[in-house]
Amino acid sequence: MLQLSDLNGIGPAAIDKLKQLNIESVLDLLFHLPLRYENKTCITPIDQVRSLQPALVEGVISKSFVIQGKRPILVCEIADDSSSMQLKFFNFYYSQKIKMRSGKRIRAYGEVNQGMHGPEMIHPEFWLDKDIPPLSDRLTAIYPKSEGLPQKRLQNAVQQALNLLQSGQLDMAELLPKEWLSQARLPDLQTALKDVHQPPPDVDMTRLMSGRHPSQERLKIEEMVSHFLALQAIRERHQQQQAPQLFYSAAQKKQFLDRLPFVLTGAQQRVLQEIATDLSRQIPMQRLIQGDVGSGKTVVAAGAIDHALANGQQAVLMAPTSILAEQHRLTLTEYFPDIDIAFLSGRLNAQDRREQLAKIAGDARIIIGTHALFQDEVLYRDLALVIIDEQHRFGVHQRLSLKNKGADNNLMPHTLIMTATPIPRTLAQVVYANLDVSVIDELPPNRQVINTVLLDNQKMPQLAERIKAACQRGEQAYWVCTLVEESEHLRAKAAADTYEELKAWFPHLNIGLVHGRLKNDEKAAVMAAFKDGGIQLLVATTVIEVGVDVPNATLMVIENAERLGLSQLHQLRGRVGRGSRQSHCVLMYQSPLSQNAQIRLSTMRDTNDGFEIAKIDLKLRGPGEILGTRQKGAMQFRLVNLETDKDLFLQAKNLAQSMQKSHPKQCRALIHRWQRQAATLAKV
Ligand code: ADP
Ligand code: MG
Repeated sequence: MLQLSDLNGIGPAAIDKLKQLNIESVLDLLFHLPLRYENKTCITPIDQVRSLQPALVEGVISKSFVIQGKRPILVCEIADDSSSMQLKFFNFYYSQKIKMRSGKRIRAYGEVNQGMHGPEMIHPEFWLDKDIPPLSDRLTAIYPKSEGLPQKRLQNAVQQALNLLQSGQLDMAELLPKEWLSQARLPDLQTALKDVHQPPPDVDMTRLMSGRHPSQERLKIEEMVSHFLALQAIRERHQQQQAPQLFYSAAQKKQFLDRLPFVLTGAQQRVLQEIATDLSRQIPMQRLIQGDVGSGKTVVAAGAIDHALANGQQAVLMAPTSILAEQHRLTLTEYFPDIDIAFLSGRLNAQDRREQLAKIAGDARIIIGTHALFQDEVLYRDLALVIIDEQHRFGVHQRLSLKNKGADNNLMPHTLIMTATPIPRTLAQVVYANLDVSVIDELPPNRQVINTVLLDNQKMPQLAERIKAACQRGEQAYWVCTLVEESEHLRAKAAADTYEELKAWFPHLNIGLVHGRLKNDEKAAVMAAFKDGGIQLLVATTVIEVGVDVPNATLMVIENAERLGLSQLHQLRGRVGRGSRQSHCVLMYQSPLSQNAQIRLSTMRDTNDGFEIAKIDLKLRGPGEILGTRQKGAMQFRLVNLETDKDLFLQAKNLAQSMQKSHPKQCRALIHRWQRQAATLAKV
């Protein structure tokens, strides 16, 4: 395959610059799509140029002169058969003035302004006399470019790549089935690439600029097909492994359900049944549970764990923070009073760590912890089930490395991932195409809608009354500090300062403080005291964002809520409203608010629905941000926009499925063409 360095004008320096644009091959270059286009295919008579519109004009220079001032301006008056206009240059070389003598022919391209003396162009692109090129018959693409790499150079490199493609010197075959293309009325690869880089002048510009020209759609569909195929390949590779077949009798299940302090919701029962079906097969489960905050995912995890325990095997439950892991330990200790539970987090002392590792390799049946469970020296005895809670916090590769742990007897454990990131269904189908998805779409009974109010930072006395009243009723409150400082140290300090202030405000309340700088057992002690009711008001950083479950807490105050994104606010607010009592959330803010912050805060005030909030979040931030760093790399699309192109998903998915049967060779080639990490991702 030809390299970038084979192109004329692309030396080592340019290659470096291209790298900054993520262009590392000729193929990448062809998939680097233009931002916009310029029409230099026809000359507009000067009397027809329109203000604020770009135009290509050509005429003879009637005079050129310099207006002296703080900044000298070179003015060049040109005339064609129809009229005349001025070209103006603020920064010019003396040599340029000499070249622009009257009588010379000049062609110029630029945006037209209405000046004092009629139409004018400021700093147009121009060509003189012999340098005037023949008119192009295609529109000129303008690319997103990196500092120091001239647009011309990029255009020229793309032109060369297109020529190579046309003459068949580029190894880029058509991989989509011809019948499908003609049926869908979409162009072949070569035409599509030519069209997007060098569209004909009569192209439908509105469609092109909205990314919906058939040539663009064709490329996007190809990229999506490749994406589905890559995920499918991962899935298949996984399914070729053997998993332990886990049995679970109706009696065993009933015993578990009878131990619970509540009855499962319909949604919980359904999801648990889906999991049970997976676990009873020899194919490793790869299931994702989506359920809004407070929908009761933990008990579903416990049900799956019980299923594994019934077979004498081990189950792991992993959480993104030590606070959440510790809480799961307490909850599962309640659900499984007689079971030996091991606990591993990053900050255990050497002896505790040795002890826990020994338990994990030995008699422990349930293992709970943080990402420390991923470390190489953690060896399981017979791991049958891995549950990952709040998975948006974990990277895709970490997930893989944990799965491999069960390899001691060549069996792959079943995997269950739980997330509260409520991404819309259409998006979930793309991002999680390699997983089966279950949705807990029902909240436990008697939940009251959390009442959310917005309060200006100045209104502390009003808030103080609310806090006192809640604590007098025997309920508890969170006070969340949201310093967005990168440093954990500064965040901790800000929380400590607030803690001191609140102690002065509420001398009669028991106030606690938790932040990321505390040791694990200190954190655990504070959280336990809060759970027991010993602490009435808990001052916290966003360490409590995910998973924390203290149903008696009914009031949450979030300081400077305008600093946080919607999904983070929703997660935080989900710490209250977990029981049957009316809960409140006070979002304090510092005015004036940006428009975006206004939308976020009023959305929080107006709805409690995680999916609704996710939709708005998606509009405000785009999918890349929401899915987090996990998706960067592995799920990065070159052309597809997960939000605006979602109506193409289904078409692409169907095509991927049919191609798997009819065109397996092309499928492999498609993965390699589009997936930068094809080799590591899918080993195909
Ligand atoms: P999340 O989905 O956010 O992880 P949790 O599993 O922490 O939610 O559950 C939230 C709260 O709801 C917990 O206090 C839990 O005990 C309670 N809960 C879960 N399921 C039910 C149910 N079916 N009926 C009543 N309460 C429930
Ligand atoms: Mg949870």
